[in-house]
Amino acid sequence: MLERARGILKDVFGYDAFRPLQEDIIAAIAAGRDALVVMPTGGGKSLCYQVPALMSDGLTVVVSPLISLMKDQVDQLGALGVDAVLLNSTLSDDEYAHNADLVRAGRARLLYIAPESLVKREVLSLLDSARVDCLAIDEAHCISEWGHDFRPEYRRLSGIRKRFPGAACAAFTATATARVREDIKRSLLMENSADFIASFDRENLYFEVRPKQDSLAQTLDFLEKNRGDSGIIYCFSRSQVDLLAGRLARAGYSVRPYHAGLDDKVRRENQELFIRDEVQIMVATIAFGMGIHKTNVRFVIHFDLPKSIESYYQEVGRAGRDGLPAHCLLLFGYGDTQKIRYFIDQKSDEMERRVAGLHLEALVRYAEHDKCRRAPLLAHFGEEYGAENCGMCDNCVSPRGQGEDITTQARMFLSCVARTGCRFGAGHIIDVLRGSESQKILDNDHHRLSTYGIGRELPRSEWQALSRRLLAAGALFRDPERHGGLDITEKGKAIMRGDEAFFGSIREAAGGRTPGARLVDYDETLFELLRAKRKEIASLENVPPYVVFSDKTLADMASRYPQGRESMLAVHGVGARKLARYGDAFLGVVAEYCREKGIGDRSVGEPPRHDPLKTPRFMTVGEAYNAGKSIDDLAAEYGVKTQTILNNLFHFLREGNPLRSGGIATLLCLEAERGKAVMSAFDELGAEYLKPVFERFNGELSYELIGIYRLYYLAGKTESDSPAVR
Ligand code: ADP
Ligand code: ZN
Repeated sequence: MLERARGILKDVFGYDAFRPLQEDIIAAIAAGRDALVVMPTGGGKSLCYQVPALMSDGLTVVVSPLISLMKDQVDQLGALGVDAVLLNSTLSDDEYAHNADLVRAGRARLLYIAPESLVKREVLSLLDSARVDCLAIDEAHCISEWGHDFRPEYRRLSGIRKRFPGAACAAFTATATARVREDIKRSLLMENSADFIASFDRENLYFEVRPKQDSLAQTLDFLEKNRGDSGIIYCFSRSQVDLLAGRLARAGYSVRPYHAGLDDKVRRENQELFIRDEVQIMVATIAFGMGIHKTNVRFVIHFDLPKSIESYYQEVGRAGRDGLPAHCLLLFGYGDTQKIRYFIDQKSDEMERRVAGLHLEALVRYAEHDKCRRAPLLAHFGEEYGAENCGMCDNCVSPRGQGEDITTQARMFLSCVARTGCRFGAGHIIDVLRGSESQKILDNDHHRLSTYGIGRELPRSEWQALSRRLLAAGALFRDPERHGGLDITEKGKAIMRGDEAFFGSIREAAGGRTPGARLVDYDETLFELLRAKRKEIASLENVPPYVVFSDKTLADMASRYPQGRESMLAVHGVGARKLARYGDAFLGVVAEYCREKGIGDRSVGEPPRHDPLKTPRFMTVGEAYNAGKSIDDLAAEYGVKTQTILNNLFHFLREGNPLRSGGIATLLCLEAERGKAVMSAFDELGAEYLKPVFERFNGELSYELIGIYRLYYLAGKTESDSPAVR
């Protein structure tokens, strides 16, 4: 039996292995046993009833509370060649009759249906004419008044259950409390069920909490570093959603708002655009997300505090369904906790007040936790997290508290802020510390300050990290009145005087992207080409792109370069049906690309994976560049965009490595005057981000060009600072 299940997993779904528990759950259901399955969002519940449905000749009835979700699942199954239909109120009479015919004729393997339809007489008689092998209840917690999402129509499912005594009943939920679990079993008359409680650990999610400072700047900073990625930003209120969405749109991001105050049509349209990858970022209240099965959500930002750990985990669970690393960032501000406490105090019900208070406390404890974040999260679901270091949370990646004593450096920085009159940005302060000879320094006589040049021994990147730590710790603040110039708080003054020590780590993980994101190394240019092809097909077929293939599948293709059907089948997520349906289109893209670049098929043997423990890519690229390779050579060699190589070289520089500037000089193509203007823009705006400079020139210069000038600018700086330049 399990042979068969594995065959279906590979042939239909294109996956190589079951996730933990899936196999046991499938065995139980296929053997006709009732099953209660508790798994986190994104854990892979659907497969647990879809595989048994394909193993039997009878019908699997799937009860699901959300119409959009049903359609999505039926579309996805359709693309896999599985006969699945749905019955609900959105269908036209013709469609409805057609789907009912398929069920009656025994042609449908799965029937998706809303609970309210399931009590209709004509539906019941339709089901009586079919052989129902399994009754799968999705979001089964909706049956319990103790759950967070009680739906009265779910109560009627017990009657349905009695009507089909021969069918296995399988209930699925991501809500783990024992009370809800018992309620589900009792309501569905599952006396002898096999219970499966999966680990709630989602290994590919990276958890991070940052103290909320300048939340808009923090968000922009995050987005800048995760450009091109799709994600959700949750806010507390509708007005905050509108405000933030507007700000991000003005900053040039592809973004839409979503909340209950929007017109139905607008809301649906925004959701659809997001799901279809036409819009990259959704700014939303918690009204958004239930039933969103978009697989390539790469980040979830909590701009405001969530309601409880439970809802937090549910919300971040929408990230990384494709199994690729995804980033969950919580901006945590004490101001927010006070706001929430105020709302809690307004509640009239004593019990409610107490429960909400406990939820809030648990969240605060989570945010302040200084060891692995997985421990408190999983403890909430009754699990003990065994590993010392998960490698996928902020505390494990850069331990807090145990950081080095960086009081001396902090005092240097703070006094430099003080001596320059508390009105300059970090870029300028760092220039002074590192003894730059920029025009701005000379103009302000800052080369005469006692702090001038005292910080040469630290690379720029570390000073920058230090300034962010000082901001985050509340020792500095950005004064919006003075265009974001830095000013010193009481805490900062205490550090400056030497009354208080300052600990932390200022050596940064490269680039600030999700650590672990580098675990998957693929050809970005090819990936983009495959993505374009996917979009083209998805529009033709009128389905969301991930119904065709997930990002993970495309990434796998872009690292294996499959050039025949056989090797295409080896790609993650490519089964027989998808191969037949889409194989040639994607093989065509790969073949053409490989012909141009002279690349062979890498499916034979292991695909080239980048080992994160080995030298990071930017080091290899930087060294190859210094050894004489041109930027174009490198882009071709790695099969990535020029922009990517420029970014690699930027990280290389930021880590304090010298870069030969001769090669870059030949790429400078602006008139001398304009070139100088770009350089002084970096002096003024700092060189950490390209965007401010991009905006300074009203978008007239491309990011690539600005990137080249930035390298030239920074390479020049290291050259004047340090004699050890090649
Ligand atoms: P849930 O319903 O539990 O929130 P899904 O059933 O939507 O989660 O599964 C999340 C994602 O994981 C889907 O894209 C699904 O195709 C994928 N998935 C499930 N099982 C496996 C597996 N064994 N191998 C690879 N991917 C899987
Ligand atoms: Zn951890």
